[in-house]
Amino acid sequence: MSNENRVCWRTPDAMYYLIIEKLQIKQLEKLCSDARDEETGGILIGHYTDDFSTAIVTEVTPPPADSRKGPSWFIRGISGLRQLLRKRWIAYKRRYYIGEWHYHPASIVEPSSNDMRQMTRIANSKDYECKNPIMLILGQKVTAGDRSMRAFVFSSNNNAKEMFRINTEPIISNSHISQMRLENPT
Ligand SMILES: [Zn+2]
Repeated sequence: MSNENRVCWRTPDAMYYLIIEKLQIKQLEKLCSDARDEETGGILIGHYTDDFSTAIVTEVTPPPADSRKGPSWFIRGISGLRQLLRKRWIAYKRRYYIGEWHYHPASIVEPSSNDMRQMTRIANSKDYECKNPIMLILGQKVTAGDRSMRAFVFSSNNNAKEMFRINTEPIISNSHISQMRLENPT
């Protein structure tokens, strides 16, 4: 099944999938453009499929007000996230934290060792209650080309896997959305 309203990634071993709605990609594009020559970022909100194989991003946040940034670094703040995630958790369609996105003002995207460390820390954190957080990094838009985007999935045992764009979506059972994740942004 293909869906032109969503973009899909997958690990080479087909263990993990990531789906982001085009509307959210657009929002990310705008946030990156606004950041000009500095890094920026925020969190990914969404849900998992029942088998936890697929993360579906339904919302991306702008950088919280207490975030700090420079041309090659970004520290995502926490201001307002707890309240936002609380609201999404108790909503009729339950949504929760599933990872981080950030922007590198460079045409080639390489995760820094700090990026990798941070995500492993999140995967192991009781506060986040997210065992397989996603990290999405966007690069600068190059003339007449797409912005590069790289996605990674982390696990608590310090094992990061890159996910790659695919053109077909996994078959997803929509019977019910798993409710095992808890909100908790800090
Ligand atoms: Zn980075």
